[in-house]
Amino acid sequence: MTRSPVGMRLGIAGGGVAGLALAWLLETDHDVVLLEKRDRLGGNTDTRSLQHGGRAFCVDLGVREVPDDRRSLWHRISRLTGFLPERSPVPASRTVFRDPRGTSVWSFAGKHGGAARYGPQVLPARDVLERLVEQCALLEAQNSGWNRTLGALLAERGLSGTPAAQAVCALPASVHGCTLDEALSLSARSVGPLLSELGPEDGRPAYTSLVAGGAGGLSQALAGDLRTASIRLGVALRRLVPLDRGPGLVGSDETVHPVDAVALALPAESAKHAVGALPGAERVHAALARVPYRDLLYGLHTDPFGMPADRRAWSVSNVALHAPWAETTTWLGPALGPDLFVSQLTRRRSMPRLPLMTSRFRTRLPTPAAHRAVDRLAAAQGEGHLFFAGHCATHDDSQESALASAVAVAEQLAPDSPRLRRLRETRKEATR
Ligand SMILES: Cc1cc2nc3c(=O)[nH]c(=O)nc-3n(C[C@H](O)[C@H](O)[C@H](O)COP(=O)(O)OP(=O)(O)OC[C@H]3O[C@@H](n4cnc5c(N)ncnc54)[C@H](O)[C@@H]3O)c2cc1C
Repeated sequence: MTRSPVGMRLGIAGGGVAGLALAWLLETDHDVVLLEKRDRLGGNTDTRSLQHGGRAFCVDLGVREVPDDRRSLWHRISRLTGFLPERSPVPASRTVFRDPRGTSVWSFAGKHGGAARYGPQVLPARDVLERLVEQCALLEAQNSGWNRTLGALLAERGLSGTPAAQAVCALPASVHGCTLDEALSLSARSVGPLLSELGPEDGRPAYTSLVAGGAGGLSQALAGDLRTASIRLGVALRRLVPLDRGPGLVGSDETVHPVDAVALALPAESAKHAVGALPGAERVHAALARVPYRDLLYGLHTDPFGMPADRRAWSVSNVALHAPWAETTTWLGPALGPDLFVSQLTRRRSMPRLPLMTSRFRTRLPTPAAHRAVDRLAAAQGEGHLFFAGHCATHDDSQESALASAVAVAEQLAPDSPRLRRLRETRKEATR
């Protein structure tokens, strides 16, 4: 597409971090209207406040981990919006165990650090598992495609159907809300980073860090820094229609917004419906239609529901295997102090005694088809004045990649926007 004139009308659909970043980067140059179907912004971030034991806490029910690196877009955009979050370090420990006995089958970098510990069922496959992790890392390092599945790698190593294969599948199955069998169909390159959280071989403790006031802070800061963009909360984009002078967004309130360009920062399943009636978007529609999503229900509670029976086996992240599912309970004690827990509750056979609050999400399964859809959107970017940003357009579903996709669209629609220029300067500043 040729360089866009200043003063276009731009329609954005989706008020997650990608849509908000796009609105923030472009509102100085274009007239921006953003439709968000829910009555809150932030998408997969959901930071809640609560009083517990006479103290105030912020707890993330959705996105929790964000980059620590000051060169990251997350960090640099935060600074430009005036959002300067404090971080609390937490051990990157993980226990995989069988429900309900709570027998630990695999612990990674346990509470006090240290290398991976394997339960008796997984121990025989230990070396093979470590090679599997290396192999996934190699797929990433060599920038190979996304077509090889986790199941294919496990089969090559003779691990199909073994307890070790179940332990490996537990992590991606819990993160993506799918069954252990479905995890076999996920792209090995996609799930590699999860598996590589095995913990350092040299026995040093691995740490991650959480945003003290909640990971939703960046979305709130972006929204709070908007000056001219018009935000329509509670209005879903129903469909895109061709109008005389460009595309039109038809909202769930039946209002039609005529615009010069559209950016869809939506989950693929919503983007599919939006482009369904648009002439010329048939191949994009077909690719989006093959992106699978699953439900996730998260709940905050105070009883140790979902934790191993033996407290000594507790990690920050505890994956309970209850085939065909695997679900995680995150222990917030090491980060916040008191024993608070956030559990995946989508498929549990029982529920916590004291659920304080819950939140529902849809999550993309990183199958080879989902990755092919990302490639298709990249090839169609800008065609018919239609752009894609956010997790439907990125191979890696993370805050950082969602922001990177928004920056890439902004580079096309307003390369000289003041905020984009300032953002480029911060990259130089951060690397000094
Ligand atoms: C439970 C969960 C936990 C996660 N944890 C992490 C984490 O810790 N770290 C990390 O980096 N990433 C995490 N992710 C990945 C996360 O998806 C990305 O980090 C990022 O939030 C994606 O942002 P986005 O703007 O692309 O999409 P989303 O956050 O999905 O936002 C899309 C928005 O579009 C809106 N929408 C949908 N349909 C319509 C419509 N028809 N019209 C208008 N609006 C619509 C939605 O309501 C939503 O607000 C997690 C994902 C999930 C589901």
